[in-house]
Amino acid sequence: MTELNCLEMSAGASPGACGCHHGRECLLRFLTITCLGAGLLALSGCASAPAEKVAAFQDGPVCHYEAVEFSGDFEGGRLSACRQEGDRRFALYFRPEDTPINPSSWYAFAIEQASPRELELSLNYVHGWHRYVPKVSLDDGETWAELEATPSREGKRATIRPPAAAGRVLIAGQPLFNLDRYRSWMDELESHPGVERQTIGASEAGREIEAISFGADGAPVLVLIGRQHPPEIPGAIAMQAFVNRLLEDDPLAVRFRQAFRVELIPVLNPDGVALGHWRHNTRGVDVNRDWGPFTQAESRAARDWMAQLGDLAVAIDFHGTRIDTLYTQPDDVPGERAGFPRDLSEALIRHLGARAPKRDAAHNPDLPTSKTWIHTTYSIPALTYEVGDATPLPEIDETARVAAEVTMHLLLEEPA
Ligand SMILES: [Zn+2]
Repeated sequence: MTELNCLEMSAGASPGACGCHHGRECLLRFLTITCLGAGLLALSGCASAPAEKVAAFQDGPVCHYEAVEFSGDFEGGRLSACRQEGDRRFALYFRPEDTPINPSSWYAFAIEQASPRELELSLNYVHGWHRYVPKVSLDDGETWAELEATPSREGKRATIRPPAAAGRVLIAGQPLFNLDRYRSWMDELESHPGVERQTIGASEAGREIEAISFGADGAPVLVLIGRQHPPEIPGAIAMQAFVNRLLEDDPLAVRFRQAFRVELIPVLNPDGVALGHWRHNTRGVDVNRDWGPFTQAESRAARDWMAQLGDLAVAIDFHGTRIDTLYTQPDDVPGERAGFPRDLSEALIRHLGARAPKRDAAHNPDLPTSKTWIHTTYSIPALTYEVGDATPLPEIDETARVAAEVTMHLLLEEPA
């Protein structure tokens, strides 16, 4: 069993559980692992382990070495621990905010070197596996490119060779889409006539939850929700393209805004986004499994906001998963505009062919997700709009724009 498998063992596992033989090496490994698992070397109880083994690990979010520093100490950043394995070889470790958790193995860190040297880094996932193709930015997050990664056979780690560059090199599972980017997007939306912005509540850690609205007063409402799950950035990019399309000045969008109202929460889990979480809010809860229990500030804020919106027409919640997918209710459910999911899906196939999102009308009907709760509570179509982890940016944009156009046509009862 590899050491990484041992890392998977939670604190309290016995040396034997790590699969190594009895003896000094096993004990060293166990102590190291227990330290890493329990508190990433911060525990005084680990002081008895021999220094040269344990000191090889550094606790995140900042790991400082003579010629290089790795840091996850920024909004959206995640870096749990590091270990130098050779002159230019380092292992970086990424842990989720808590467990058990969906394996959305998010990582985001900066590399800083005084003089540019080639490095070989292994990305190691504790409680997860390599899921997101690394993206690299040499201009502090303005532009991103994909970086080749070689996953290990069991998928628990991947090896990368970042570009040798002086200054700050950002590496992340997706192009960063942080709260500052939401703020500038909302500033931009607000500059359109008739767009209103308000704070509808605060997250569990006290961050503002904001909402945007535009369109005809008192008209039926298209509800849009974003970023319940922090790493699902392709869904955030899709939501932005979708909303921007609704605000264009062509005849379709103008007609739509005269007949409908649009109400949206761009980021419903701001704490998770800011803290580089894999999935949860700061209380260890999946916000999109709390629509029903409503134990969390985020889901309650969304519920209470929705309750005063008036006549709801359709709701769409933007997410990310392996492939582009629309999760919807089945066709035979009663309710207003019950044909909307089928009509949307068929129109997307007409416009996009094989690139159209797959429709799944039977996904998680019993889980307390926004989709299920909104549909059950308001008897309207409620969809989860999922964007693939690896869908190229231009395709995300194009699909979202077409989906916005089809949505407008369908709600206006026009051919789509
Ligand atoms: Zn999600």
